[in-house]
Amino acid sequence: MTLPDYAIEARGLVKTYPATKTTPAMAALKGIDLQIPRGSIFGLLGPNGAGKSTFINILSGLTRKTSGKVLIWGRDIDERPREARAAIGVVGQEIATDVFFTPRESLEVQAGLYGVPRRERRTDVLLGALGLSDKADAYVRQLSGGMKRRLMVAKAMVHNPPVLILDEPTAGVDVELRRQLWAYVVSLNQLGVTVVLTTHYLEEAEELCDTIAIVNRGEVVACEPTSQLLRRLDSRTVVITPTAPLTSIPDLAPYEARLRPTGDLAVAFKTREAGVEQVIAAVRAAGVQIRDLRTEDPDLEDVFVSLTSSHAERAA
Ligand code: ADP
Repeated sequence: MTLPDYAIEARGLVKTYPATKTTPAMAALKGIDLQIPRGSIFGLLGPNGAGKSTFINILSGLTRKTSGKVLIWGRDIDERPREARAAIGVVGQEIATDVFFTPRESLEVQAGLYGVPRRERRTDVLLGALGLSDKADAYVRQLSGGMKRRLMVAKAMVHNPPVLILDEPTAGVDVELRRQLWAYVVSLNQLGVTVVLTTHYLEEAEELCDTIAIVNRGEVVACEPTSQLLRRLDSRTVVITPTAPLTSIPDLAPYEARLRPTGDLAVAFKTREAGVEQVIAAVRAAGVQIRDLRTEDPDLEDVFVSLTSSHAERAA
């Protein structure tokens, strides 16, 4: 069998939630085109409400699309739904582990649900791959939060799908655990698994993903290799604590100055166009005395503003 170029492909994907008595109809996905290359770690990045979960739920079959086409591993979800779904493993946001099973039992039960014949089961391999061999026969309630998350990943992999989908894998997870999970994701990818993850942390997408799609309000506003995307997001901010409180915002054109509630002056600039020293010089020239300063990288909000506005300009 020839392998598909794209692990997942969506064309003109639309999802409209119907109106209810209290809410108007809601277009959660407004004609999404996405091609997720086979072998990639692909990040679907966007703020809350962007449509990420809706997209994932359509892939997993939890939500019905309104229109458009979706292929998973080259299989149309309308024409070959079973084969399409067999090609993905999905790890949802919730930690839904059964407290009465051990990790080993849990994986066996899951394999049974997927109809994986006993001789083809890979329970021990998965336990090993996810660092759970020691806990294979412990009750799930004795596992740490991180182990439970890893067990969720193992459960999603019982039928050996070529594509693993993680919906907000590190939401509410501490830094160390996040690193651990990232390491597992990378090792699975190195074994050839295409990984798709949703996140609203730019840092997570930046660190892990080779390609990032940014969705906002049901539209894809950018989709490109991570390094290329980051080069476009070249804005930084110098945050200045003035010696004396400012009574007005100095005019620092071409830089954009804002006064924060803390009294700090935040000056945004394009790294392509200026350096920190030039910004500081402009601030001094405007008569502001500097007590302290630091620089900040753009946060996700800045990224959306800059990408969404350039997207709108292109569309206009
Ligand atoms: P994300 O995962 O990016 O946070 P979602 O896909 O959950 O975004 O939501 C996209 C939009 O669709 C949101 O405005 C949300 O309120 C709406 N939405 C999601 N699920 C439903 C539903 N079952 N019924 C109505 N609206 C929904």
